[in-house]
Amino acid sequence: MILQQKNRINHRTRNMLVVTLLLFPILLMSACSGNSDNNNNVQANSSHNSEDKNTAFKVVIDPGHGGKDPGATGVSGQYEKSFTLNLSKKVEKRLEQESGMEVFMTRTDDSFISQESRERPKYANRKNADVFISIHGNTFSDPNVSGTETYYYHKTSHQFAQILQKHVVKATEFRDRGIKKKDLFVVRDTEMPAALLEVGFLTNSANESKMRTDDFQSRVADSIVKGIKEYKEESEKQGIFSGMF
Ligand SMILES: [Zn+2]
Repeated sequence: MILQQKNRINHRTRNMLVVTLLLFPILLMSACSGNSDNNNNVQANSSHNSEDKNTAFKVVIDPGHGGKDPGATGVSGQYEKSFTLNLSKKVEKRLEQESGMEVFMTRTDDSFISQESRERPKYANRKNADVFISIHGNTFSDPNVSGTETYYYHKTSHQFAQILQKHVVKATEFRDRGIKKKDLFVVRDTEMPAALLEVGFLTNSANESKMRTDDFQSRVADSIVKGIKEYKEESEKQGIFSGMF
């Protein structure tokens, strides 16, 4: 009994010593980087210093369509491409405020991106992004059809699509059409968790009239950021990092 206790104490002391030895270089490193972070704080928020880039969670936002590809025409006569760009810019602005996040846009103006070149997923792959979101407005021949849905393709994107859908539906308050697996090149050719978000139906007048407002877009942008943050935390917990395709 005494011997066992002694052994336990020895064991505990040894364990503590090992932990201290292991932690020491980590503490030293974080103290050093903490210093330089303070020095670069002002710059870090606006232009992302190189230190941030190495550890940042990279998000690629893809505003659907653009240029000579207008996407769907809404009940109002306005195009899908303007809705996707407006909402994407709001998401971009929010992500820029988040520490530890870096955001990239496949387009920031009304430029055309060819489908044949597969440039959208290629761009995200080149950036070595952690997640990719393509933003769209839905369309259907029956104007009564409405709601929010999210598409994914690879199994590794399933959880990301699920989390994103959950947050966005809460913001849109539209019918929850769920997540769907579909062979769309933007979610198929991307080498990281990828989702294509159909926020609502531009061919449904109730959906569209909300989707065109600044207030609605702000709420949806907030929810997309929440979704990204929850997924980031989840993937860190589970040890799933991008690139594991
Ligand atoms: Zn679209």
